Amino acid sequence: MTETNIIKLRGVEKRYGSFTAATGINLELKEGEFFSLLGPSGCGKTTVLRMIAGFQEPSEGHIEIDGVSMDGVPANKRPTNMVFQSYAIFPHLNVGDNVAYGLRGRVAKPEIEERVAEALEMVELGGLQKRGATELSGGQRQRVALARALIMRPKVLLLDEPLSALDKKLREQMQFEMRNLQQSLGITFVMVTHDQYEAMTMSDRIGVMFQGRLMQVDTPTMLYARPCNREIASFIGEMNILPAAVQNEQAETSMTVDMAAFGKIEIEKNPNVTNRAKNIIVGIRPEQLEISPDKPADYPATLQGTVSNVAFYGENVHYHVKTETFEKPISVSVPNYFHTVDFQRDDKVWLGVQGASVIDLGQDKQ
Ligand code: ATP
Repeated sequence: MTETNIIKLRGVEKRYGSFTAATGINLELKEGEFFSLLGPSGCGKTTVLRMIAGFQEPSEGHIEIDGVSMDGVPANKRPTNMVFQSYAIFPHLNVGDNVAYGLRGRVAKPEIEERVAEALEMVELGGLQKRGATELSGGQRQRVALARALIMRPKVLLLDEPLSALDKKLREQMQFEMRNLQQSLGITFVMVTHDQYEAMTMSDRIGVMFQGRLMQVDTPTMLYARPCNREIASFIGEMNILPAAVQNEQAETSMTVDMAAFGKIEIEKNPNVTNRAKNIIVGIRPEQLEISPDKPADYPATLQGTVSNVAFYGENVHYHVKTETFEKPISVSVPNYFHTVDFQRDDKVWLGVQGASVIDLGQDKQ
């Protein structure tokens, strides 16, 4: 990845009649970056991707690619190429002809053959030119669709839910393959997905959209560790959300909060939070909580509860712990190091948490 911006969106908005599908989109993407637009169905992510591709014009604002304004530039004149969700490859053409499709009539035949071979090598389908399109597995078809886009040598590859048609195992394998391919080619990838794990495992940065707005743009680790509000905190992974009262906010980067029955604890101020008041909410990831039969030593905040549910996931065990103070049970996830489930339903347990594991989520707007 370089520090050069390849795509810039400035004040971009898209309206369909009186409905606003995307608004206030300001975004800069770096050359060679793997960027994902993530959000629930209907939040406007495909609309943003289609505006970058040139399939739709913004109602307001401007898009620049590689330093050039895209105002009025049609899709086929942009340095972008798109891989669609339904990777419609032509069933009557063989693999080679499918991949060559966009180059026909643009360059001479020997060059086409060379570039087809090169594109198929890139997606690990080398030598399969003559294979019929119908004789391919789902994963191979997806790779043909990728090769067909890559052969055009785009500066930016746009991907609209590229793996959603594949089953779970294959999807996970393709996530790694696509990430490796993107890194070895150094092309900027912009992917739309509603799958948080897909976005987290593949991307350098993620833009999370809700109701037409970009709510947070950050690295996967920061989105997980420092989400800017309740919506992002709950959308990316699981989060216990508790009310807290700010006791002392003098220090620039830290504050003491009172987490009701958990007690008082010093936590870091979240730099991504823009609204903070006396009453805030805080988040604790299930895997950051200690669960033990006795009051855990060395934990500044502790609380007693009763196990209300046990779920065994193989790699970890998930407990729900009901407490007297909080309405919702608290979720706790424990790695399954020793192939044991330590607690049963109705067991009395203690929970403990360190200040570094409590995330400031600011004033709650709900
Ligand atoms: P999904 O994951 O379901 O594809 P998305 O986040 O990609 O969702 P968009 O396809 O960008 O969402 O659509 C955003 C909103 O704009 C939706 O409410 C959709 O119904 C609406 N919309 C999209 N295209 C049009 C159109 N051509 N005319 C009218 N409304 C549209």
